[in-house]
Amino acid sequence: MGRVVVLGSLNLDLVTQVERHPEPGETVLGEGLARLAGGKGANQAMAAAAAGADVAMVGAVGDDDAGRAYLQRLRDAGVDTSAIAVLDDEPTGTALIVVGDGAENSIVVVPGANGRVADAALATVEEMTPDDVLLVQLEIPLDTVSAACERAAARDVRVVLNIAPYADLPAAVIQVADPLVANEHEAQLLGHTGARPRSRLVTLGAHGAVWDDLGLPAVEVPDDEVLDTTGAGDAFCGALAAALARREGRESALHGALAAGADAVRHLGAQPDPRLG
Ligand code: ADP
Repeated sequence: MGRVVVLGSLNLDLVTQVERHPEPGETVLGEGLARLAGGKGANQAMAAAAAGADVAMVGAVGDDDAGRAYLQRLRDAGVDTSAIAVLDDEPTGTALIVVGDGAENSIVVVPGANGRVADAALATVEEMTPDDVLLVQLEIPLDTVSAACERAAARDVRVVLNIAPYADLPAAVIQVADPLVANEHEAQLLGHTGARPRSRLVTLGAHGAVWDDLGLPAVEVPDDEVLDTTGAGDAFCGALAAALARREGRESALHGALAAGADAVRHLGAQPDPRLG
């Protein structure tokens, strides 16, 4: 069985609730303050580990409480954290999430250490073998994403590229993705560019997913059991990469990913039991 190497972000999500969002210049009181594990990279690494993969994460945190708690959390889940840099001049990436009464959120993301994941972090990619799978998303510098995808492809490593949050990437990078994973919105934006991945997997929320010519329905979750769809796409990608590293075929891997996506909507937060420290 190959390894899954996840290159990406780690965030502390700080979540509070308000009756209404403040106007510019205004102060309102927040109720409760949750410290939750987030960041697409780490969400996907946790999901791949939960799906039974041998996982290593490449990324960066600050030399602070959140960073230390996150490294411990990943290690407890069996993720190899030796390629996560600990920076003493940047904070751990932080998302300030204000949840309004109508469930609409305002979010400020401070990339912090995620913005400093540099090509130097790619030594792990240089050690990958064709048995392994590289899983990447776009919450770290795009130059680093591009370099990692191209170096992995040159080593015959399968690249699973989750184009989220959406950004334009060079066509040469899109081309090595097998699959490129996009939700409907991201797929539409990519369609305008004309760039063609090796294969394309579009997730359709409660309608399942389509991988090139292979479409499968979602695992049905009753409406009253859908608690929070945050992180469904991340759980999907992590489980998919785990299945591909086990050399499962397309249909079996897609089934596993759909099951993980459905599980993710049944709990609050982007990871199961997401409390951080
Ligand atoms: P994102 O969260 O990235 O926008 P989607 O909404 O397409 O992505 O969801 C990703 C995957 O999560 C879907 O392909 C599906 O497997 C699963 N999923 C999301 N919402 C539901 C739901 N209501 N019921 C069952 N599965 C779901």
